[in-house]
Amino acid sequence: LVGHGPSPSSSITGAEKQEKQYRAHQGFGNHHGGVTGAHTYFYADEAKCDQHMETFLRCIDASSGSSEDGFSAIKLTALARPQFLVRFSEVLVKWRRFFHQMAAEQGQAGRAVLDTKLEVEKLQEALANLGIVSTAESQQWFTGENLSMRGTVDLLDWNSLFDSRTKLSRPLLIPNRMTGQLEPLLSRFSEEEELQMKRVLQRMDVLAKRAMEKGVRLMVDAEQSYFQPAISRITVETQRRFNRSQPIIYNTYQCYLKEAYNNVTGDMELSRREGWHFGTKLVRGAYMVQERERAAQMGYEDPINPTYEKTNEMYHRCLDYVLEEITRSRKASVMVASHNEDTVKFTLHRMRELGIHPSDKKVCFGQLLGMCDQITFPLGQAGFPVYKYVPYGPVNEVLPYLSRRAQENRGFMQRANRERDLLWKEVKRRLLTGNLFS
Ligand SMILES: Cc1cc2nc3c(=O)[nH]c(=O)nc-3n(C[C@H](O)[C@H](O)[C@H](O)COP(=O)(O)OP(=O)(O)OC[C@H]3O[C@@H](n4cnc5c(N)ncnc54)[C@H](O)[C@@H]3O)c2cc1C
Repeated sequence: LVGHGPSPSSSITGAEKQEKQYRAHQGFGNHHGGVTGAHTYFYADEAKCDQHMETFLRCIDASSGSSEDGFSAIKLTALARPQFLVRFSEVLVKWRRFFHQMAAEQGQAGRAVLDTKLEVEKLQEALANLGIVSTAESQQWFTGENLSMRGTVDLLDWNSLFDSRTKLSRPLLIPNRMTGQLEPLLSRFSEEEELQMKRVLQRMDVLAKRAMEKGVRLMVDAEQSYFQPAISRITVETQRRFNRSQPIIYNTYQCYLKEAYNNVTGDMELSRREGWHFGTKLVRGAYMVQERERAAQMGYEDPINPTYEKTNEMYHRCLDYVLEEITRSRKASVMVASHNEDTVKFTLHRMRELGIHPSDKKVCFGQLLGMCDQITFPLGQAGFPVYKYVPYGPVNEVLPYLSRRAQENRGFMQRANRERDLLWKEVKRRLLTGNLFS
């Protein structure tokens, strides 16, 4: 991959601008730069990825030994070459944009993702006119039972045409939005990249199998937006295989992303159609500063919501959608991973309204170890499943990670003051009642 410097935004189209998001930036090898809230792994070599997998396996074992229904969290940048994740993300996003381009041509620009339905006949005609595939060939694409009955194709049907396990090297041409010229979607996927895809899926299989055997749920953390389409896709592939009878694999959705609601609703709909359990962790997102800087530097649209309030709205909207699904089908589960008291209160309120009981164990909460115990402990005492995220690793890496996380949490100082006040109150109470060490 080559690095691209910033370009004047006036000279490029929106799509071209967006595709820059999935290119390596200067200093890409060091993607810790500016990350203030999360630990991202450097890729060294495949052996290193295998070592990380071994560590994750030990972590799953430890989780199963310490609680009955534990979680183990992993980062995919530890299991695959980051350059590969960026490349795969670029391909997935191009494929999705092409769908939206076709939708615009059918007069459906700007519709919500699941309301966008392409008419198959018109689509075949457009594909033939563009010289991408003949009508006879595209007929093969759209012969699925449901597809031929409906006569329309939505984004999920469209994505299913692109099977990452088997058809990665299919030399499909799609038009470049800038030049109008046909260009290969996947031509630059080398044999080595195909191999990398296989290896990361294999590593995920090994981890998922162990998690299943040990009764531990495996959570895949969300990372930077230029890795995220690939991370999410690989996670969904694993969910399809392992979440048949219970939610073993949890995907993470970052609600600071403008596209968060589309991502949640799209993947949820896929799980409904295919009949697997939708396990999710909802977070606001840890890479805001770095994302904004990169977007400005490389000249693409900022993927993050414009304000904190918009991120809050997005979080509650996504959460509401998942809670309603829990009431409807019981096939969804969510971890509300947040230190925000309003979000926790909102969740409790909606659970009460929707009749979701804590003992159903469909909704759980998560905070970082050492942070916001005043939220964690009362939730636990009230019978809600609540977890502490325990970062682990070499001390010289974990300490800076934790201090960055502390700085990054908005309103953290207010929370720290509140935690200190609560601790003092408790010390005084114990002194007065003569129970200092109880
Ligand atoms: C258990 C657990 C697991 C986590 N896992 C992940 C993970 O996998 N991936 C990940 O990315 N993060 C993860 N995080 C971190 C999380 O994304 C947040 O960074 C952190 O929790 C702070 O958000 P909050 O909801 O707790 O609190 P708040 O203080 O209410 O929210 C702060 C967050 O709001 C958003 N925000 C702040 N200002 C603005 C603004 N001006 N415009 C738009 N948005 C804004 C940012 O996301 C910021 O981090 C995890 C956190 C926890 C507790």
